Amino acid sequence: MADTHDDQDGPGWFDEGALVAVLTAQPLDRTLDYRAPEGGCAAGAFVEVPLGPRRVLGVVWGPGLGDFDAAKVRSVHKVLDVPPMTEEMRIFLGRAADYTLTPLPAMLRLATRAPGLGDGPAMRRVFARGLAEPDRMTDARARVLDVLDEQEDAVFTQKELADLAGVSGGVVKGLAAQGVIEERAAPRDLPFPQLDPDLPGKALTDDQAAAAGTLAEGVAARSYATTMLRGVTGSGKTEVYLEAVAACLRAGRQALVLLPEIALTAEFLDRVEQRFGARPAEWHSGVTMTERRRVWRMIGQGNAQLVVGARSALFLPYRDLGLIVVDEEHDTSYKQEDGVLYSARDMAVLRAAIAGAQVVLASATPSLETWANVEAGKYRALSLTSRFGPARMPEMRAIDMRSEDLPGGRWISPSLKAEVEARLERGEQSLLFLNRRGYAPVTICRACGHQVGCDHCDARMVEHRFLKRLVCHQCGETKPVPEVCPACEVEGKLAAVGPGVERMGEEAAAVFPDARVEVLSSDMYSSARALKARIAAIAEGEADIVIGTQLVAKGHNFPKLTLVGVIDADLGLQGSDLRAAERTFQLMRQVAGRAGRAEAPGTALLQTFQPEHPVIRAIVAGDEDGFWSAEAAERRAAGVPPYGRMAGIVLSAPDVQAVFDLGADMARRDGPLRRIGAQLFGPAPAPIARIRGRHRVRLLVKADKAAPLQAALSDWLRQFRWKGDIRVSVDIDPQSFY
Ligand code: ADP
Ligand code: ZN
Repeated sequence: MADTHDDQDGPGWFDEGALVAVLTAQPLDRTLDYRAPEGGCAAGAFVEVPLGPRRVLGVVWGPGLGDFDAAKVRSVHKVLDVPPMTEEMRIFLGRAADYTLTPLPAMLRLATRAPGLGDGPAMRRVFARGLAEPDRMTDARARVLDVLDEQEDAVFTQKELADLAGVSGGVVKGLAAQGVIEERAAPRDLPFPQLDPDLPGKALTDDQAAAAGTLAEGVAARSYATTMLRGVTGSGKTEVYLEAVAACLRAGRQALVLLPEIALTAEFLDRVEQRFGARPAEWHSGVTMTERRRVWRMIGQGNAQLVVGARSALFLPYRDLGLIVVDEEHDTSYKQEDGVLYSARDMAVLRAAIAGAQVVLASATPSLETWANVEAGKYRALSLTSRFGPARMPEMRAIDMRSEDLPGGRWISPSLKAEVEARLERGEQSLLFLNRRGYAPVTICRACGHQVGCDHCDARMVEHRFLKRLVCHQCGETKPVPEVCPACEVEGKLAAVGPGVERMGEEAAAVFPDARVEVLSSDMYSSARALKARIAAIAEGEADIVIGTQLVAKGHNFPKLTLVGVIDADLGLQGSDLRAAERTFQLMRQVAGRAGRAEAPGTALLQTFQPEHPVIRAIVAGDEDGFWSAEAAERRAAGVPPYGRMAGIVLSAPDVQAVFDLGADMARRDGPLRRIGAQLFGPAPAPIARIRGRHRVRLLVKADKAAPLQAALSDWLRQFRWKGDIRVSVDIDPQSFY
């Protein structure tokens, strides 16, 4: 892309000395006025401005407001050597801030999360694989070489290489001294290799080709639309949206593919390379700072055509965004749950609407929000009807646990055991699914009944035998398993109650002594890479029985897997979350979708104590539309999302009285909310009433779908000042209730 800088005498240009309003990432509630520097500056320019004794990063947001003492207005220190923020991006950040009730500076922080944006391009010293082999191989050395092999074309600073490999700088230096790795000077920020949309893709089936054609037309039209792409796991959704990416590349625009889980990106990058001949830019928490800077700058210059990333990739400075794919759009990880609370799926739609881009929401089990938007005619829908190739959807059955003969402390029913044994005989794999990490969810004293809890939260500690510790899943605090009960001090009476995946691993090893049993849980691996490598090995057949948490539900391929046994299908049905049924339905369908991907047909068995529960029945019957209509009817009747709007407000402080007092005051002065017909519930102790020593109080606001919720919330919140240690977080469209 040629000249990305604005016209130097158009309306978006400020001559030297003109007043400009600069938005900084500092926690101020307004923009600040400065004078344009020598040479002038464009609207959107990234600048460094003096603020007190410091210099801070900012963006020229528009003409100055002129409400400062003119004599005291200082000049912009310098304009950074990066293309100015586009108007589209400024509008997007503004609207996203308004929607989520987030201060604009916090949005700007999200949009500038790369280091050294102001530093010019220069050479730097980096390491890459050299020609020599090490004189002797150690574990540490092998890890360094693994890192280099994994990220073939990447180069690293010494510190990055040492950190990624988990070794000391000395190991890296030692390898360099032997020529196993080489130090060289490399220019910073190389452009990404060209992707070629015209390399041959796979021959699509008729319904795949029809869906791909519709998406490609939308992209070519350069206008906004959102399309739900629905199809069971393995039906070719990825193949189809890659054709939309191809159309976007042909149109010369940039594309973004969001994935819910870092562990999935590696597999996807390989597919991009096969389809387009090179790897795209990658953006997520596992990417080094050096690489982040490169990605940020190259996207801003239009030298990265395709980005694959996590939700924060939405806030990168695309020059010309033509397509956003949100894969597994129903996944809860798209909701950012701390800092700025936003839904990446909804913000993708917002950004695309401003940019004139297409959105594809792909899922085997779309969220009810998306489903409702299709019904309302706001989104289009495309369906892929069957799995690609010989694989079929698995046969699903419930195992009624009320009639199974099972001793206490055991969870694999005789019926499930028989099915697993049949797979073992045929050399096929089985998955036992339990959505609970650790060994046991509760540690109880058999003498006094005390349950071991976290010292900082109102949560029970979960025993992780693998780590040999109790872990709080809320705050991460750990402690050794005590010898004596902390309450009654009786020794040797603490017992693990209930199953976690680690305990299921023990049971499976006892029940199937000749099988290779493998527990797959994110906390048992030191890195996403180690986990990914293990998943690949298992997919190749290195285990007979896999025991896993919801990690395995997310898109990994296990071709030899023909049986899924859900240990406790009732687990998600309890609880007060309005989406409990939806989540259970999605999770069970996704897990069942793991079975029978290749030639062998699959079976999914659900252990349940309530086989007549409507959710369980819909899952077993494979009646998706039936489930969704029933669920939609209930939510509509209750006036809850997606047929009504909600906001969750959490007040927290170390002082319990202070939070309750504020909560009560907020509930009393609810005029602005009542004026739009909204209801306020609370204050009540939050479901988790204490986290990290902070007491938490929750208020819930419910309004009609069409009510101006954000405006009313701002008017309401403006009435209060919170002092000292009180924190207030506002969550629009909350997804979790804790
Ligand atoms: P989904 O994204 O719906 O889970 P994928 O696009 O990953 O499905 O497809 C599942 C598998 O089937 C992949 O290995 C994919 O390459 C293969 N596949 C899908 N469609 C075709 C096709 N038309 N030709 C060849 N292979 C295909
Ligand atoms: Zn805790």
